[in-house]
Formats: sequence, structure tokens, C-alpha cells
Amino acid sequence: MTELPTIPQINTHKNHILDPMKYFEFRLLRLCLVFFAVSLNVMSNQALAQLDTTKYALVGGLLIDGSGAEPVRNSIVLINGNRIEAVGTIGRLAVPEDYQLVSTEGMTLMPGLWDPHVHLLYSGHPDFSHWFATYSDQFANVTIPASAHQILMAGVTSVRDLAVNTRDIARVRQRIEEGELPGPTIYAAGAALMPIDVLQTMPHIIPIDNDRKAVNETKRLIADGMDFIKILGAVPESQNMVNAIVRTAHAAGIRVTAHGRNDDEIRVALIAGVDEIQHIGVDTPTFPEDILDLIEQRIASGIPLYWNPTVGMILNTDELAADPEWLDDPKNFLDLPADMELDIRQAIARANFNVQPRSASDTIKRKLQSLSERGVIMVFGSDEGSFGHPASESTWRELETWVFELGMSPLVAIKWATSDAAEYMGVGDEVGTITPGKLADIITVTGSPLRHFSTLREPAMVFKNGVRVR
Ligand SMILES: [Zn+2]
Repeated sequence: MTELPTIPQINTHKNHILDPMKYFEFRLLRLCLVFFAVSLNVMSNQALAQLDTTKYALVGGLLIDGSGAEPVRNSIVLINGNRIEAVGTIGRLAVPEDYQLVSTEGMTLMPGLWDPHVHLLYSGHPDFSHWFATYSDQFANVTIPASAHQILMAGVTSVRDLAVNTRDIARVRQRIEEGELPGPTIYAAGAALMPIDVLQTMPHIIPIDNDRKAVNETKRLIADGMDFIKILGAVPESQNMVNAIVRTAHAAGIRVTAHGRNDDEIRVALIAGVDEIQHIGVDTPTFPEDILDLIEQRIASGIPLYWNPTVGMILNTDELAADPEWLDDPKNFLDLPADMELDIRQAIARANFNVQPRSASDTIKRKLQSLSERGVIMVFGSDEGSFGHPASESTWRELETWVFELGMSPLVAIKWATSDAAEYMGVGDEVGTITPGKLADIITVTGSPLRHFSTLREPAMVFKNGVRVR
């Protein structure tokens, strides 16, 4: 029998397990701090723009706070403006009169999910060239806003977009922050830097053909407000350019993530010192020795190495091909024009899903295990928007794959896709757990995902920054 990988249990941020009394005291302490913070009027412009004057009391449900702590029954969560004001239990925390009571009986509350690997400009269409040739002028006003709306309705309140037209994502992000469009909080890499001379026509990719351009384009992305730098398609000949990108980004305090579907990409990325690598390829059964050596050297240096495997991209293809009923679900086409919907549905129905053999699962487990053993830290992310991965479904499908196929415990999976992701993005003090003082990004699902994880596919309620959007 294949041993299940224990990667995320080992290599995520540390668990904060507190006993119930400590837990309660901890919350009381935080509550005092919150009042102090609010009295100082410490609020960002973004928070003010989205301030909802309704005060909510979510009463009765099972609380999974996202920290990895054991769930708490009969919970009460008070939301005041855009912040979580207090967290307690029935009989121990009073609900003030002016709060709108929302029963969460029979439900589980958890922090809004994160998807740190999305592509909001796609909508699951299998033919990238066709997508860009036909719809590029509609990314900013149609496809990115539609994906943002869809993914928010799926309970994902924060995303990181890795490869998108810089100006388009900046514009949509601003409109969401101003409350003009529904959508998650967006972190973005903008256009991906591709250090070989191809794909010039795609607006979400910046071709790089010399070191000077590598430096200048990296600086430009950072000046445009991008939160990460993404490298795509590195080859051995581009090593110096990739080195220049990483040096430039790190000098500005910005992290770099690199596509790593094949060994060449991974090798170049590790030599250059990127912070994170995406994907687990199944073309080779194991990582070659020299790559494992590079990983060991990196870990020994004390600089953490992150990996975003996106296993659903590979392991879900059989389901997507064999049970295409999901293609008829209207939520996957929310806000898209009818002709675009028809185009996507027909193209997916015609497409070859490249169904992977069962051995792909073993390969992924083996590779994850070898990364885990060496101390690599896993980052959640689904590659939303890619072929067959619509915004409404991609995130929970990826999480489900980790739970059902790779043996991750549901509680760890929820922590991984909430507080760990927020910590990784450097905003763990603001979001990622249901904790007094943090922004009120909260979802509820029917029943308990600890018993029936698939309940995550259909959130009952979604609050973003204290605003109920579902
Ligand atoms: Zn991707």
C-alpha cells in the first residue's frame, strides 16, 4: 500500500492548539485590543470604502477558526463594520441589541478561503490562442470581473493572480476595492516574465531576451503595484536573465514565483533563488538527483522554499472528462455574455482532456513526499481559470483532491487554504482566521466539512470585509 504523503501536516505554518479556556481568554484579550485599535481609528482606505454599517451576530454554528484549533460548537461571531469584533459561545458572549441576528445553526463557519494561484482572465477555455485573439479587449470589463464574482460566490475571499495583463488586473482590483464590483481581495503578479522569445502576442506575458530588459520589466511591474513576480518558461539559456529578475525583485523586497512543470524550469529557478515553484510534473517519475541536491542546499541555507503543486490540474481530468454535467451549471458562466459561454462550453466539450493514468497519482505522491522530507513548504492554489477549471469550482476541487486523494485531514486543508495562505502573503495579522480585530472574511457551509468535506462546494453565506455578499 502506498504511504500517503503527510506534507502539509509537516510543512505548513505551525499549529496554534489552545485548550478551550485559554482559547476563550485569548479571544477576550484580543477583544480588548480591538476596541483599542478601533478607537485609534486604524483603518485602511480600502476598509473604509467597503464599510457596511450593518452589525451582524452569527449565532449557533460550529466554528472552525482557520488556525488549526479544534472546532468550537454553539459559536457566536460578532461583526461590526468590516471587522470581527468578538468571538465566543452561546451563554458566554452576549449579543448586543443593535446586532442583526443571523442563525448559523446546522452550519460551519470558517474564514473565507484563499486561492493563491488563479488566472482570472481565463474562464476555463481550452484554447489559449483563441481566447487571447478573440477576447483580449474584454478582459478588463468582462472576463476578469466575471471570474472575480464567480470565485467570491464560491467562498474565496482572497486570491493571488499569477499571469494577467498588468493594467487590467490593477483596474479590476481598484474597482473591487472601491466597492464597484463584487470580488475577492486580489494580490497579483501582473504579466509573467518569459525569458525566451516566444508568445509575443499574449498580453499577459512579457518576453525577455536580455538581462537589461529582465531588470527593467521587473522594476516596471513593481512600480505598477504588483505583489509578486512570476517567471514562466525558463530554459537553461535564460539562467542569467532569471538571476537578474530574482536579484531585482528581492532588492525591492518582492518575492518571485516560477513555473516549474519540467526539470529545466525547476533547475533554473532553484539556481536563481526564487521563493516559490509551481506545479508538479508527471512526465518524470522522480526529481533528478541534482535538483534534490539544489533543494537540500537551499533548505540548509535557512531560506525557506515554497512549492505550489496544483495537483487537481492533473488528478481531476478523469472526472472532468467523464462527468461533464458541471459544464451545464449556470454558476460557471455567471456574468459572461451568451456567445462567450457558448464558445467555452463547445470548446470544452470538443477538447481532449488528456486523462492521466492512475500512476500519475503515485508520481505526485512520490514527488510531494521527497519535497516534504527535505523541508519544502507547500502553498495552496488551484490554477483557477485554466482549462476545465472555472472560478466557481476550481478552488474546492483542488482542496477536495488533497483530502480525498492525498489524505490531508479536512481541518489541515482548511487551515492551509486560509491562515497559512494569509501568512504566506504577509497579511496574517489582518485576515486568514476568525479572530477579533481581523477583517470579517467569513463563510458558512451546511453541516460539517470535517465529516463531509464536499460541503465546501456550496457556501451558504459569504461575508467579505463585513459585507454579506451571499
Ligand atoms: Zn497557473
